[in-house]
Amino acid sequence: MNKNSCDVVIVGGGVMGSATAYYLMNHDDRLNIIVVEPDPTYSKASSTLSVGNARIQFSLRENIQISQYTFEVLKQFEEEMMVDDNRPNISFRREGNLFLIDRDNRSLAREAIALQKRLDCKVEWWSNQKIRERYPLFEPKGLSGGSFGPLDGHFDAYAFLMGYKAKARSLGANYIKDQVVEILTDSSKVTGVRLASGESLSTGLVVNCAGAWAADVARTAGVHLPVEPIKRQVFVLDTAIKPAGPLPLTVLPSGLYFRTETGGLILLGKSMPEDPVGFEFSWDDKRFTEVLWPELAAFVPAFDTLKLIRGWAGLYAVNTLDGNAILGEWPEIKGFYLANGFSGHGLQQAPAVGRYMSELLLDLSPKIDLSNFHAERILAKRPLSESGLV
Ligand SMILES: Cc1cc2nc3c(=O)[nH]c(=O)nc-3n(C[C@H](O)[C@H](O)[C@H](O)COP(=O)(O)OP(=O)(O)OC[C@H]3O[C@@H](n4cnc5c(N)ncnc54)[C@H](O)[C@@H]3O)c2cc1C
Repeated sequence: MNKNSCDVVIVGGGVMGSATAYYLMNHDDRLNIIVVEPDPTYSKASSTLSVGNARIQFSLRENIQISQYTFEVLKQFEEEMMVDDNRPNISFRREGNLFLIDRDNRSLAREAIALQKRLDCKVEWWSNQKIRERYPLFEPKGLSGGSFGPLDGHFDAYAFLMGYKAKARSLGANYIKDQVVEILTDSSKVTGVRLASGESLSTGLVVNCAGAWAADVARTAGVHLPVEPIKRQVFVLDTAIKPAGPLPLTVLPSGLYFRTETGGLILLGKSMPEDPVGFEFSWDDKRFTEVLWPELAAFVPAFDTLKLIRGWAGLYAVNTLDGNAILGEWPEIKGFYLANGFSGHGLQQAPAVGRYMSELLLDLSPKIDLSNFHAERILAKRPLSESGLV
């Protein structure tokens, strides 16, 4: 095989690209895999700008099964990703997720809990009284209660990405610093990619793992992907009154979420309809002080006094059809595979998705059947319903 030809090209070396590279190499370390990533610092990648949460609390069967697999992987991730004596430290903290429920979303929440329980997940229904007992700073008035996942939690997203990347490289995956500017095709078949450096790579298999840039990459092959980059902001707060222990990731019915972070700080965010589409990364303290703070203080009156320490913005790659993943070969181009559209829950889906993509590419039978997420539903305009999007 010449140096510019390979078995698989992965476009984007974020968590999806790196997990896919790892599972491919883990199945067969004779594979010649090239991961093309223009920014090895990952300064704008969603993977490193996320808040690192993983939860069982979804309403679509496959999303729940994906999280079950994630939890299996997280338990032994550090061991599995060891390279020589280097063991990544992902600081997985199972501090729980609490989804607050109001009258409007009560029946959907009950259905989701029932399905989670049927699938053997640990999830509890909490009354307002129980919420107050467990978290005395919370004021759940006007709410119907909450759904609590005691095993949900968060981990270090950067260390997680680096774990997959280092292991994939140690098994032989080749990362190059470049950018894919065109997916090359001939008679509806992938033949390779053209790079910004002017070089081309020839291959019959290309996987689009370009996150918020996925639609731009797909367009070069004439494919219209309904995936938009939407800015989301996160704020870091130092509250005058500190909670007695860690707070779970707590999600209000409006979508406002917060949790404790190392050093007694609080992380907070909220997806809002006015969040702009585009590749823009500024953050706006007024959004916090004028809009989100009053909402937070109504639920946690003790957080009425606090200091906004800093903030950041990252991009959700939003699948505008249904907010869920798009996985598998694009039906109109042989060899063009997609792992896109993860909105706000892609970090935690990387283990199952990376594994599934590797099984599809190598024609192996999948450990978890994720065919419901297949790209065909995009052409058929057949949305999947998930009530647990944040
Ligand atoms: C504020 C925020 C909070 C979040 N919180 C969570 C959370 O708590 N839990 C969770 O599970 N998920 C969360 N997410 C979502 C999660 O971060 C993403 O779904 C996930 O990281 C997507 O991974 P990815 O590899 O697809 O994309 P990215 O990490 O964005 O990687 C894509 C890579 O592709 C590269 N690329 C782009 N164009 C090209 C090209 N033409 N050629 C080659 N490479 C290219 C980019 O440089 C980038 O490194 C959050 C996201 C944000 C923004």
